[in-house]
Amino acid sequence: MRNPLEPLAGFGVTFSSMFKKNNTELYPEEKAPTAARYHGRHQLNRYADGLEKCIGCELCAWACPADAIYVEGADNTEEERFSPGERYGSVYQINYLRCIGCGLCIEACPTRALTMTNEYEMADDNRADLIYGKDKLLAPLEPGMESPPHPMQPGSTDEDYYRGSVIATNEVPQ
Ligand code: SF4
Ligand code: SF4
Repeated sequence: MRNPLEPLAGFGVTFSSMFKKNNTELYPEEKAPTAARYHGRHQLNRYADGLEKCIGCELCAWACPADAIYVEGADNTEEERFSPGERYGSVYQINYLRCIGCGLCIEACPTRALTMTNEYEMADDNRADLIYGKDKLLAPLEPGMESPPHPMQPGSTDEDYYRGSVIATNEVPQ
């Protein structure tokens, strides 16, 4: 026969918990640092002169198991150049309602355009704002960088960019 006090057992657990030390972290007032290689918000990186590293190849989108990435590539022209070489990512979106933070997109990227930051505060109150575009993903311009579109550095090839031998626009070559 069933013990009539059984339904009260759950209340006993609740009651005893009331007197235990509170283990809740004091977020958001106190933010604990993440692990160094934490998989947070993505970032689209730039070369030292500000040109974008993304070539719009879509390899990241094809690698994504959650179908969270949407890319549209377009051709650079000499009048309007956003990245070295032929192509750049004209539309780039990551849907953080889908992303599982696996990092496979990072591994697929041939130019190291895509990396992940330690930023984890991406909650929002509507679905549309959790689809991040280039406005949120593109790395900010650092000193010495010029906002694209602009030409490649004189005398340089796209290979020089990929090899990291291009310097910031205001630096003097050694
Ligand atoms: S981290 Fe994983 S799930 Fe998120 S966008 Fe990259 S491949 Fe897709
Ligand atoms: S982020 Fe990398 S893999 Fe994705 S489209 Fe750009 S260059 Fe290609």
